[in-house]
Amino acid sequence: MNGTKTAAAATSAEVREQFPILSTVVENRKLAYLDNAASSQKPNRVLEAIDRYYTHEHSNVHRGTHHLSRLATQRFEDSRERMREFVNAAEKREILFTRGTTESINLVAHGLSRGLLKAGDEILITEMEHHSNIVPWQMTAEYSGATLRVAKVNDDGSLDMDDLRSKLNKNTRMVSVVHVSNALGTVNPVKEIIKAAHEVGAWVLVDGAQAAPHMRVDVQDLDCDFYALSGHKMYGPTGSGILYGRAKCLEELPPYQGGGEMIESVSFEKTTYNELPYKFEAGTPDMAAAIGLAEAANFISDLGYEYISAVESKLLEYATERLEAIEGLRIIGTSRPKASVISFLVDGTHPSDIGQILDKLGVAVRTGHHCTQPLMDKLGIPGTVRASFAVYNTTDEVDALADGIERAVKMLKD
Ligand code: PMP
Repeated sequence: MNGTKTAAAATSAEVREQFPILSTVVENRKLAYLDNAASSQKPNRVLEAIDRYYTHEHSNVHRGTHHLSRLATQRFEDSRERMREFVNAAEKREILFTRGTTESINLVAHGLSRGLLKAGDEILITEMEHHSNIVPWQMTAEYSGATLRVAKVNDDGSLDMDDLRSKLNKNTRMVSVVHVSNALGTVNPVKEIIKAAHEVGAWVLVDGAQAAPHMRVDVQDLDCDFYALSGHKMYGPTGSGILYGRAKCLEELPPYQGGGEMIESVSFEKTTYNELPYKFEAGTPDMAAAIGLAEAANFISDLGYEYISAVESKLLEYATERLEAIEGLRIIGTSRPKASVISFLVDGTHPSDIGQILDKLGVAVRTGHHCTQPLMDKLGIPGTVRASFAVYNTTDEVDALADGIERAVKMLKD
């Protein structure tokens, strides 16, 4: 399938043939790659865009007067415009290129800890956050004297909205919440959260690492102040990502790192900072990553979220049905709406044993706490086995998973 073919016409085979890695053979079996929430695979067009850039277009950006520098700058800035369009930001200067969600969140948390927060101020997160949306805020609280508060999660994996509302008050300065939980698949009502947070005057950051691969992100419709995403989870390269920031908020936030590019003028007496977005992009950026990310956005847009969501919902429903039929298997995180992620435990077995047997059967899943230790503690479990589906997965792969679990359980219990 070429890049311009419309979504409706795509078949599973046409999508899969763009990902040669999916033909990998493991233990003499066809690989079923069901670890997409950790990192998705990359279509040829993303690899080709990066290759083309390095083969024909590379030089350093923004500073040069020569042909290749102008070309590289053009490609890099075109990628920023593509990402603006992808998340529907109002202005291109509101898109910062980062290494991914972790760096995006750290950029905001670090800035807030430098004089914008004080003792008595509150930062609100939730029990279902990834470590990368917990630890930076703990550091900010420690450096600024602000208090970190945590909204509760219900037993089914949904957010306790009453608890969240009860923790919003005039001292709340920042609310940072995950859009889609990587451990449970829960899709949070972020628009509602943003509205409630804005009513008390707080800023809101949305961790969109697990949302961008599955659903349309519209930062203007959400009305969020910051939105973080990672390229490698949405068919793009590792080390790529963006932070969307509302221009007014980014203007207020101090720079993250100092160095070249982020300055307007430097003297030993006084340095002044560059305009947005460059104030937050110290040093030579990863142009190839940005270009690859923009091509991943093109891949998603050409397929269309309607198509992606139709494929993934079907996989989620089928997998839920097959897994629920396995004796002793308990799905962790049953609230709806839910992304195509299934976490589960099987009575009398350990998640890592199941994961290892599945690997021998060619099925790649993730086991453990999924960087959400406080959530696992809250749910009273050591971790889970997690299968996560992407647009290229098939019901045959769901069958390989379910048959594999049945076999693993039998082996572990016999
Ligand atoms: N938030 C969530 C919900 C995630 O799933 C992840 C990655 N597992 C991150 C943040 C961190 O993303 P990255 O490692 O790409 O910075």
